[in-house]
Amino acid sequence: MSFESLGLRAELLRAVSEKGYSEPTPIQLQAIPPVLEGRDIMGGAQTGTGKTAGFTLPLLHRLMSAGKPEKAHRAVRALVLTPTRELAAQVSESVETYGKYLPLKSTVIYGGVGINPQIQKLRKGVDILVATPGRLLDHVSQKTVDLSKVDILVLDEADRMLDMGFIRDIRKVLALLPRQKQTLLFSATFSDEIKRLADDLLRSPALIEVARRNTACELVTQVVHPVDKSRKRELLSYLIGSNNWKQVLVFNRTKHGANRLAEQLNTDGITASAIHGNKSQGARTKALADFKSGKVRVLVATDIAARGLDINQLPHVVNFELPNVAEDYVHRIGRTGRAGNEGEAMSLVCVDELKLLKDIERLIKRGIPKVVIEGYEPDLSIKPEPINRGRGRAQQTARKPAGKKTAPARNGQRPSFKGRSNNQSRSGNRARHSSQNAR
Ligand code: AMP
Repeated sequence: MSFESLGLRAELLRAVSEKGYSEPTPIQLQAIPPVLEGRDIMGGAQTGTGKTAGFTLPLLHRLMSAGKPEKAHRAVRALVLTPTRELAAQVSESVETYGKYLPLKSTVIYGGVGINPQIQKLRKGVDILVATPGRLLDHVSQKTVDLSKVDILVLDEADRMLDMGFIRDIRKVLALLPRQKQTLLFSATFSDEIKRLADDLLRSPALIEVARRNTACELVTQVVHPVDKSRKRELLSYLIGSNNWKQVLVFNRTKHGANRLAEQLNTDGITASAIHGNKSQGARTKALADFKSGKVRVLVATDIAARGLDINQLPHVVNFELPNVAEDYVHRIGRTGRAGNEGEAMSLVCVDELKLLKDIERLIKRGIPKVVIEGYEPDLSIKPEPINRGRGRAQQTARKPAGKKTAPARNGQRPSFKGRSNNQSRSGNRARHSSQNAR
């Protein structure tokens, strides 16, 4: 099946072919026809599946079908809401790329940068607006944006927006939109809260689901390296150095921890920067650009900051700490093995994190091979301690999703690496000084 046979306009086909896409991805095949028909969509897909083009291409097509925009009366006709600044910037870039041969205007608005340049752009008139909810409401309260003509609404990564505590902001935005409109909702997971939102918003939606790339595509090789907490940094430097990894995305639970780890890696002679919600937008953009260009080898990120990062062919993802919420593990390892490339995701797991590991294995419905690296064997006499949750689960506005608390290890029930599937370290099948042996 080709893009041509989907019935997209020639200008869009030209932009797609310039991007080098030879055929639509599964989510694009499923999403483009119903969106072109004007139907609402409930899409189960995460970043990395090609979902951005899946909604952007038909959205641009429909805006053009509705008639050429009148220059003098340009009003926002398509609104895309995203949870993070990075994702907003990426979606906006896609809108520009795919729409480059169309006479449509778009812009992006998010917090952390000056509002005045955004006001100037909005004043000139835009057809497509990509926004994070908080900054959009700032514009609403300053009356610098008019949402009364929105025909198409996209909620991208809706689960993450709810996780970040944006539900009230989203509902406020919804109240400003016309009742009659086409709504496309994308979410990697479907909690009861998402289903409620979908019930309120969508009219007989087309249900679209593409398999999670990590479980279906099997492109990501996963491994757990059991190690003491105090030796994780040393092991990370060792893995990067001995394998000569050039580009590694490392996840940390907290902003403070991310900063500290980046500093320590730099001290070890491994160039690293941190990316998290406390950094200015300029610093975040620079950290990402330096990482993409190869100027820094390691990018240490918190979950929220990393959400939506599109780094092509990222070969290595390391979970320096496991996430508090199991779903985040899926998002994290989704950063590697993208667009048909193989990737590897490794997790440095200390005794405190065994409960988190169990939650993850339950979610992905399989055990992850455990491989002890020689010289970094965990000290089995160390007792688990409750995880320091820090404040880095999300940005300041975030609230914890209900019912996702992670209990500290229970007294008297020592979690252990023993007795787990694939626990090669305990069967004498030890990894040598190379992670290649880890698989
Ligand atoms: P997304 O899931 O929208 O973040 O897209 C993930 C990556 O896949 C991006 O780098 C896109 O440029 C790329 N991509 C999107 N559609 C296609 C396609 N049909 N063929 C090849 N790559 C694609």
